Amino acid sequence: MPHVDPRSIIYVAGLTGAVMAVVLWGVRRNLPVAMPGVPAWSMAPLLCAASTVFFSLDQRLPGFVVMLAGNALLMGGLGLFYFGSLRFWHRPCPWRSWTAAGAALLAAMSYFCWFQPDFRARTMLFAVGMAACNFAHARLLQRHGKGFSSRLTAIVLAALCGVSVLRAATTFWLDAPASTRFTQMPMQQLYAVSFHLAALLLSIGGLLMLSERVRFEFEHMASHDSLTGALTRRTLFQTGEREWTRWMRHGRPFSVLLLDIDRFKSINDQWGHPTGDKVLQGCTALIASRLRGGDALGRYGGEEFIVVLGETDGAAAWMAAERIRQALEQHRAPDIPAYTASIGVATVAEGDAGFGSLLKRADMGLYQAKAAGSNRSVAQ
Ligand code: GH3
Ligand code: MG
Ligand code: MG
Repeated sequence: MPHVDPRSIIYVAGLTGAVMAVVLWGVRRNLPVAMPGVPAWSMAPLLCAASTVFFSLDQRLPGFVVMLAGNALLMGGLGLFYFGSLRFWHRPCPWRSWTAAGAALLAAMSYFCWFQPDFRARTMLFAVGMAACNFAHARLLQRHGKGFSSRLTAIVLAALCGVSVLRAATTFWLDAPASTRFTQMPMQQLYAVSFHLAALLLSIGGLLMLSERVRFEFEHMASHDSLTGALTRRTLFQTGEREWTRWMRHGRPFSVLLLDIDRFKSINDQWGHPTGDKVLQGCTALIASRLRGGDALGRYGGEEFIVVLGETDGAAAWMAAERIRQALEQHRAPDIPAYTASIGVATVAEGDAGFGSLLKRADMGLYQAKAAGSNRSVAQ
């Protein structure tokens, strides 16, 4: 490794940590909604930057103060990155046990600084502690994270963990008890550089995960109805068009159900609109629970829903409609009145001109179901 001035690394690391803290703080302020984990992520590079203040004052401040404050802050910074990720991915955050383990580690390092000074023991303890934290963080992202950004961050963490393990394994062989963090040796320089790059790389990882999450949330908002969580009309029509293409290419039949809650206006009038909303939500959840993986449920508008049943012929579609209708008729939940629904059923057939003509037939079925007294399914 070429000669790297350790103090320059520390200054640059302090600066990048501070810049990343400002960037994350700015991003956090501009988020459309508060996101769990982001406050911890925005504090983490600040702690890493604060640790560099103590390391840069080595030999100007008492060694014990530099060792304790610098390492505590660096440990806190990397720990906060981990806690932020736990919150971001909705996992329980056992911060008490990690903080206790960190305090125990610092106490042991203090012993090897004050009572029995040994750089190797301190290095080994710190490197093992940081390797454990980064390993747990990498495993969290690999198991629970989603998308490219969490995989990339997991790789960075695994690399940081690998360097720490290497440092811990070699310190008793490469160092002397009186060595210092400024010892000119490739292994020590690699170790120091890995820590000082950590704040930068983990902040970038957090920003990438955040932007991926924001994109996902917006995509979800655009494709799902905000009241019921069913697909929006546009997304459902896309699904219907896809099924139509499969039918044209491969002759795979599919069916459509058009469902309308009976006398819904009188539910609103008698119970109020908030109760009407609860009926719509409960109805959506119940229908969704009766569907298979390849089916799609969307809100057509008001109290009308469309279900696209993939790979479903006429007989199976009729049975599915009746299953749903009966489940709705028997639906009882606190704070909502009993209600029923009528369903028009249509299955794709030769002569259909597109998904739209299928929908038109389902609409005719629904009209007939209403005309015949509601709470029934009619196939067209
Ligand atoms: P029918 O049995 O013939 O289907 O009659 P209906 O009362 O169900 O149908 P109508 O079209 O007369 O009334 C639908 C009502 O649904 C009118 C509208 O205020 C209400 N509505 C539409 N969207 C919402 C909503 O998001 N929440 C609530 N609570 N009501 C809604
Ligand atoms: Mg209606
Ligand atoms: Mg209705």
